[in-house]
Amino acid sequence: MDGQTMTAAPVLILLGPPGAGKGTQARMLEEKFGLVQLSTGDLLRAAVAQGTEAGKQAKAVMEAGGLVSDEIVIAILRDRLAEPDCAKGVILDGFPRTTVQAEALDRLLAETGQKIDAAVSLEVDDAAMVTRISGRYTCGGCGEGYHDAFKQPAKAGVCDKCGGTEMKRRADDKAETVASRLEAYHAQTAPLIGYYEEKGALSRIDAMGAIDKIAADLGAIVEDATAH
Ligand SMILES: [Zn+2]
Repeated sequence: MDGQTMTAAPVLILLGPPGAGKGTQARMLEEKFGLVQLSTGDLLRAAVAQGTEAGKQAKAVMEAGGLVSDEIVIAILRDRLAEPDCAKGVILDGFPRTTVQAEALDRLLAETGQKIDAAVSLEVDDAAMVTRISGRYTCGGCGEGYHDAFKQPAKAGVCDKCGGTEMKRRADDKAETVASRLEAYHAQTAPLIGYYEEKGALSRIDAMGAIDKIAADLGAIVEDATAH
């Protein structure tokens, strides 16, 4: 024995509302640990483009205006996980969304002796998140970003960079819109959080702090998962 044990590649799930920095964190994990982020949309598109068996089924369903079934998504995921770049581990994004999907995923992973090593919930303070997102605006001239609470131009309404006076706000960033998006997220995710909590796989990370701190917390969870 050389002291090394064969371990299955870690499988992580990142849960977090829009604005919690999930994409940024996933990219950092990809760079630092060689994990591959698998998002459902990308998986479907790739499988359809490659014309795999499951991809053909997905294409037929989508062309008929239907929703791709869990079985098809699982089949696509099975194919994808077998590819060599997934050997160091994966981060799942956008799947599972329901506990039924989570159970199907557990069965799939069990086929190769894998499991969900960590379901990480990026936790946000809803009120602070509404302030953070709804305060954003950009200069229509040069695209410089500003914020009502955190970064005002030196002269109100005038861009520091280009002197432009046309400031833009995204309709999506309205306080009510952000609040209802967060509400929908919590309603949708609560059962999943409960599911992984029961399995002892849930970790919660404060996603309101500095990006580096969040990355360090996440890194520790990945290292822990990889060591098992
Ligand atoms: Zn400007």
